[in-house]
Amino acid sequence: MDLLRALLPCPGCGRRPSGPRGACAACWHRFVVPPPPRPSGTRPIHGPCVVALGPYRGGLGRLVRAAKYRPDRRLLRALGTELGVRVRRIATAARPASSAWLVVPVPADPRRARRRGLDHAALLAAAVARAWGPGATVRPGLRRTRPTRTQAGASDAVRRRNVAGAIAWHDAVTLAGRSVLLVDDVLTTGATARACAAALHAAGAGDVWVAVIARAR
Ligand SMILES: [Zn+2]
Repeated sequence: MDLLRALLPCPGCGRRPSGPRGACAACWHRFVVPPPPRPSGTRPIHGPCVVALGPYRGGLGRLVRAAKYRPDRRLLRALGTELGVRVRRIATAARPASSAWLVVPVPADPRRARRRGLDHAALLAAAVARAWGPGATVRPGLRRTRPTRTQAGASDAVRRRNVAGAIAWHDAVTLAGRSVLLVDDVLTTGATARACAAALHAAGAGDVWVAVIARAR
């Protein structure tokens, strides 16, 4: 199965075989590492620090869409691994004294995740935490407390109303003062990330950072 998938065309260039990672080596080094000339880096948006591999367009946009919609677990895992390495570097430099980070996926709407047969954020968060190593533990403790509509195509105001109060921390692990890394595939308006950050802070979290593969706008 994986062997056959490796022969599929690379979603970045459409020419070479995608290989074991889900994207050919040339596209990987062009679009994923090293960072593009103007990476999203660590610009803060409304409080939390955001780390992204790059913008949600061009080659990286094609890789993210292939990972999400084919869907391609290998590619998601490879992108998550790269993101984990990058976040660890930035976080350990910025917060050298922090105790282990909790890596928390943005919760999927359960019906949508079932329909797709894949929870992108959960898979990414696991890959991020694995790549980070002992300094991070994955903890999928955020839950949707009511069904929400899909955010795709909605304006920022609609997105904010859609997710307001719809996400809460439901986990025995206490967040008191913990540093939390929230993980998702794409950051668009940040409405969902802000709702998650609010729920994490309400449960006592200290720093809340956001890590995404790609950032729109
Ligand atoms: Zn390629």
